[in-house]
Amino acid sequence: CGIVGYVGRAQSRPDASHSALDVVIEGLRRLEYRGYDSAGVAVVADGGIESRKKAGKLKNLENELSAHPLPESLTGIGHTRWATHGGPTDANAHPHLADGGKLAVIHNGIIENYATLKAELAAKGVTFLSETDTEVAAALIGDLYRGAADGDITRAMQLACQRLEGAFTLLAVHADQPGVVVAARRNSPLVVGLGEGENFLGSDVSGFIDYTRRAVELGQDQIVTITPDSFEVTDFFGAPAHGKEFEVSWDA
Ligand code: GLU
Repeated sequence: CGIVGYVGRAQSRPDASHSALDVVIEGLRRLEYRGYDSAGVAVVADGGIESRKKAGKLKNLENELSAHPLPESLTGIGHTRWATHGGPTDANAHPHLADGGKLAVIHNGIIENYATLKAELAAKGVTFLSETDTEVAAALIGDLYRGAADGDITRAMQLACQRLEGAFTLLAVHADQPGVVVAARRNSPLVVGLGEGENFLGSDVSGFIDYTRRAVELGQDQIVTITPDSFEVTDFFGAPAHGKEFEVSWDA
């Protein structure tokens, strides 16, 4: 039940050992206390998305990453899952991909109207590889990205959130928009971490506490788009909105 996102510039972490993947895995480790049954990551690299996911402990994911390493990247997302729809299997673990593998989505929470949306998307020819409600959200964002959102991942997330019911923290990255992570929240927590030439997302500040103490808590029904140098908050309809900035003062 944890979510981490990262986007940086090459200059912000000149030491190659501080890649998006390292930041994301470290964040997931910090969030382990929330409980989970599977874990997964995705990075944007070389014009595509690369993802690894495994049922079980983070250690299983780390073994998978050793066996099948990811390319270096400065944009990544990571997830620990607490299964609600579909058992704790590799296939049901997040990220879920859409738009022909160019879009990766992770989600904590429950999409209550997923069955209706799934039928709608299936009728359009979309096929599904998991039993999760999350993959339906991913497919919806992918469908809107190609359609009404006209290749804008933030717009696709806004339009998708207008249709989604339930509780969700959602993060998405698209291969055609490297250097961008977009996130949304309804009835589920989401915090932005503000760095220098890099920005972070987490279910809570533990997800990035090793890197920054400047944070912005998003409000209900808000969307945030982070790049290495900016963060922009809107509501689900694209109107400008503001989170609540604060400084993390406690010892993590
Ligand atoms: N409902 C989603 C699933 O079962 C997300 C669960 C979670 O919060 O980790 O995959």
